[in-house]
Amino acid sequence: MKGALIGCGFFAQNQLHAWSGIEGADIVALCDQDGTRLSDTAERFAIARTYRDAAAMLEAEQLDFVDIATTVPSHRPLVEMAAAAGLDVICQKPFAATMADARAMVEAVESAGRVLMVHENFRWQSAVRRAIETVREGAIGAPFFGRISFRSGYDVFSGQPYLAEGERFIIEDLGIHILDIARAFFGDVERLSAATKRVNPQIRGEDVATMLLQHSQGASSVVDCSYATRRQPETFPQTLLEIDGSEGTLRLDAGYRLTVQTKGGESIADVEPPLLPWAEKPWHNIQESVSIIQRHFVDCIAAGREPETSGRDNLKTLALVEAAYRSAATGQTVRPADL
Ligand code: NAD
Repeated sequence: MKGALIGCGFFAQNQLHAWSGIEGADIVALCDQDGTRLSDTAERFAIARTYRDAAAMLEAEQLDFVDIATTVPSHRPLVEMAAAAGLDVICQKPFAATMADARAMVEAVESAGRVLMVHENFRWQSAVRRAIETVREGAIGAPFFGRISFRSGYDVFSGQPYLAEGERFIIEDLGIHILDIARAFFGDVERLSAATKRVNPQIRGEDVATMLLQHSQGASSVVDCSYATRRQPETFPQTLLEIDGSEGTLRLDAGYRLTVQTKGGESIADVEPPLLPWAEKPWHNIQESVSIIQRHFVDCIAAGREPETSGRDNLKTLALVEAAYRSAATGQTVRPADL
C-alpha cells in the first residue's frame, strides 16, 4: 500500500518511524503547509515527494491511503478530500470538532467504500491491551467496576503549545483516550456525569476532569484525568487501571505492573512495553501503540475487516467527550445517545 502523510508536526514523527517498520505499507509523499517542518521531516525520513497543499498532492500522487496527522480544524476537509479521491484514511484524534462533522466524515468515507480508522491508540498500548484481553477472556468474571486513571504534572505544553490555548483541554485531548479505554473494557455508555477544574492559571482550558460512567451492560466506571497532579513517581504517560469483576480483580499499577487476583491466587506480571529503536522513555508506551495501531489498519484493509477503532466506532468515544463537557457545564447527567 502506498500512503501519504499530511501534517509533519510533533506527533507525526512517531507515525513516520512506525510506518518505516510496517511491512506492506510505504509512505511515498508528505504534506505540510509549513515549509520548514515539511523539508526537515522529508530529510529525516528520506521521502522525496513533498507538497504544501494536500489537494495538489492527491491530484499528483497514486495513493492507496492517507495518514492525517494534523490538528482537529483541518480533519473534516482533509478526510472528505481523501474520500473523494477514493482512499483509505487514518485520522488523528480528536477526530472532529463536533458530532455533526464526525458523522459527515464517517459518511463520506463509507460512501466511497473505503476504510476510515481513527488513530485512537491508547487502547492499543500493549500493557493496556493485555489488561483488556485478560478481562475479555473472563479472568475476573463479569466486570462491574472500573477506575481508569491518568494523573500527571508533566509539561505537555512545551511540545504541544496549542494545548494551552484552547477553551477545551484535558477531556478533548487526553480524556478522549481514557474514555475510549473505558469503552474498550465495559462497552457503550448509558449516562455520564463530569466535574472539571482549571488548576494551572497559564492555560485556558480545564486541566482536571473526573467522570462517572454508567455502562449499558451494567458496569460503572470512574475516569479521572489530571495534568495538575504533582506526585512521585511521576507516571506520565501511563494509564492506571483498577477493575473489579465477579470472580476477581485486575490492577495495572505504576511501572507497568499487572496484578490479577482471583480465589485461585494472585499473578503479577511486568508488562512494560519494549523500547523500540526509535523510541524514548517515558513516551515508549505511546510510541509502541502507534506501531500497533498502524499495523492494525494495514491488517484490517488486507482482511477486509473494519478496524476496532474505526471512524464509526469513534463516534461513540467522541459522544462521551461532548457529554462530559455538557455535564460539567450544566451540572446534569447526560445521555451520550442524545448527542
Ligand atoms: P502539530 O501542530 O505539532 O502538527 C500539526 C502539523 O499539521 C503542523 O506542522 C501544521 O503545519 C500541519 N497542518 C495543519 N493543517 C494542515 C493542512 N490543512 N495541510 C497540511 N498541513 C497542515 O500538532 P501535533 O502535536 O503533532 O498534533 C497533531 C494531532 O495529533 C492532534 O490532533 C493531536 O491531538 C494528535 N496527537 C495524538 C497523540 C496520540 O497519542 N494519539 C499524541 C499527540 C498528539
